[in-house]
Amino acid sequence: MPACPTLRIALPVPLPQLFDYLPPENSPVPSDGDVGRRVRVPFGPRELVGVVEGVGQAEDPAALRPALAWLDPAPLLAGELARSLHWLARYTHAPLGEVIATALPAPLRRGEPLADTHGWAWQLTQDGIAGFGALRRDTRPQRLATLLQAGAVNEDLLDDQFEDWRSAARALLKRGFAERIEVAALIPPPNTQPGPTPNAQQQEAIEAINAADGFQPFLLDGVTGSGKTEVYLQAIAQCLAQGKQALVLVPEIGLTPQTLHRFRSRLGIPVHALHSGLNDNERARVWAAASRGEARVIVGTRSAVFTPLPQAGLIVIDEEHDGSYKQQDGIRYHARDFALVRGKALEVPVVLGSATPSLESLHNARSGRYTHLRLQQRAGDAKPPGVRVFDVRKRPLQDGLAPEVIAGIGQHLQAGNQVLVFKNRRGYAPVLLCHDCGWTAPCKRCSTPLHSTPMTVHGAGRRLQCHHCGARAPVPLACPDCASLALQPQGIGTERLEERLLQLFPDHPVLRIDRSTTARRDALEQTLATLGDQPGILVGTQILAKGHDLPKLTLVVVVGIDEGLFSADFRASEKLAQQLIQVAGRAGRAERPGEVWLQTHHPDNALLHTLVNGGYHAFAEAELGQREAAGFPPFAHLALLRAEAKQVEQANDFLSAVRNLIAAGNGVERFGPMPAPMPRRAGFQRTQLLLSAEQRRPLHGLLDALMAQVYALPQARRVRWSLDVDPLDL
Ligand code: ADP
Ligand code: ZN
Ligand code: ZN
Repeated sequence: MPACPTLRIALPVPLPQLFDYLPPENSPVPSDGDVGRRVRVPFGPRELVGVVEGVGQAEDPAALRPALAWLDPAPLLAGELARSLHWLARYTHAPLGEVIATALPAPLRRGEPLADTHGWAWQLTQDGIAGFGALRRDTRPQRLATLLQAGAVNEDLLDDQFEDWRSAARALLKRGFAERIEVAALIPPPNTQPGPTPNAQQQEAIEAINAADGFQPFLLDGVTGSGKTEVYLQAIAQCLAQGKQALVLVPEIGLTPQTLHRFRSRLGIPVHALHSGLNDNERARVWAAASRGEARVIVGTRSAVFTPLPQAGLIVIDEEHDGSYKQQDGIRYHARDFALVRGKALEVPVVLGSATPSLESLHNARSGRYTHLRLQQRAGDAKPPGVRVFDVRKRPLQDGLAPEVIAGIGQHLQAGNQVLVFKNRRGYAPVLLCHDCGWTAPCKRCSTPLHSTPMTVHGAGRRLQCHHCGARAPVPLACPDCASLALQPQGIGTERLEERLLQLFPDHPVLRIDRSTTARRDALEQTLATLGDQPGILVGTQILAKGHDLPKLTLVVVVGIDEGLFSADFRASEKLAQQLIQVAGRAGRAERPGEVWLQTHHPDNALLHTLVNGGYHAFAEAELGQREAAGFPPFAHLALLRAEAKQVEQANDFLSAVRNLIAAGNGVERFGPMPAPMPRRAGFQRTQLLLSAEQRRPLHGLLDALMAQVYALPQARRVRWSLDVDPLDL
């Protein structure tokens, strides 16, 4: 029997293997050159889009179905990106087809062709340049020809600048004076702004990055306002000058129109943005433009790490400590870590920047794996803010604010400055409490080990909302347990602070900024624009830690961070320290020195003490010591299997079965099955099994062998489960 060639295809289904199909009917014999092309295939009753991973020989061709159609004329996924995605599938132990589906923009995932990225422009011909003087003055064709004298002009731009240009262009075309040409679609920014002269430390950093030969990881560790972005911009400029592409990752809240404008005007070329505000087609266009090498600078959030970079020169990850780089569902990748993998494969330098580096990155810098670049002063003339800790024990508080703090806010406003009041709880109050019997309003669908999760009070005290599952309910008229009417909102949220500050300072604007008020991406910018330079108060959550430069901001008040001091999560201290330093960094720019006031019931807390007196690096040293002693990352490597089901037994049975597949004593420790930090969410029971190892290798060796068996467990079919390698939250 003649050998029958087959296609081995990765499909976006939650199964670990590749799938064999016959080539589409009437197509030539497939070869290795077809690897990376997309095909449409039948899968059960459905049709799916997959990517060819290899060509094989069928033992039993009659058992195979033919693919329906080729979708790409040439491989869509090839070279470095294809190799890096294979790495990611191995590392996360996720199906390759699902990893590829995560990496591709939705239209490509659906099987649409690679987007057209070309636009059209008009330019004068040689005849036109020589002869346009003969055109009658002040006619449309003559005015259009005058405009084109300086060079080709994009049709998008003509639409903006020249009414009814098409008839004028047709007239010029007819005389052979102008022609239509194909160009890259984006309009370049009008002019380039020069940057400031770098200071000595910036200069050193820029030179180190520019001198990198091939892959080299850098930790650019510089306080807020020390000029890290300037360093990125200069390194990118050099990368562009060498004809290479640059990819810049920023956290979700960091990609503001202001940031993009700064990049565009400084670099003087189109900067392609990739963020959650774009629609699918816009994303696909940027992806296509990058894959063709047309997009030279791509600035984007987490998923931009999957941008193809055929001419890569540099990768930057700004605010590398930010938790939004970790995808928390589906394929649980960390964009910073994957960017390093890509940088290595692409042989380009990777710059991780932060004022509060993650302990992982600091550890890598200390051990010499990353080159540690430090910017220790604020750029220009800006001074670091002074920090004061207010002991609020036994003090009379007005909705959480101490009298001295209220007076201080008044003084800063009097002086014509702005004040930021930071509270990391949104809503009106975290809990609704019955003063007579102690009842608290619970979410019916969620709970923690000790009690049900309280609903947060919103809508000036009229509405309840669960921050974990989104459930909403009206505030009851009376206590459901004792019928008392003494229901009181307990604790302070941003809404309640806003209400109080409006009462205290009726002559000044008070703007609240949190996830409830800034659901839309540019809402933050717009809110800040309404404040402008006038004295006023901003109240908000950590969203305020980033974004728009606020030169008039001289006082940052941190209200009630105490909840964060006692969390069970081993990363809680790190997150709290980063949040405090980032928010404090907003105070004081240029000629106005800033102050940071911290209110706490725990003035002697070791973390606060170290942070206030020694700064972030002293805190990080101490914290790394504790992590090492306790055997937590970065001194251990973790993988977490999560399971959820309607009945807790089903979730536990599955995880116990997994645990039984793992032999004890191979360098990997097993903890669990145990309840998740929130054992019930949205009506599902949630449990987890933690695997921990001192070395990465035994852990991954174990997972390699384990995962195929896990997919095959009969208990797996009765639960929703996932594997999280390097989990951020335990
Ligand atoms: P970071 O990214 O570390 O927060 P930026 O690069 O945004 O810091 O710089 C903070 C401010 O200081 C910006 O307004 C920037 O234009 C300015 N700046 C940066 N470097 C210099 C410099 N060498 N001289 C003067 N101003 C500078
Ligand atoms: Zn009651
Ligand atoms: Zn809930």
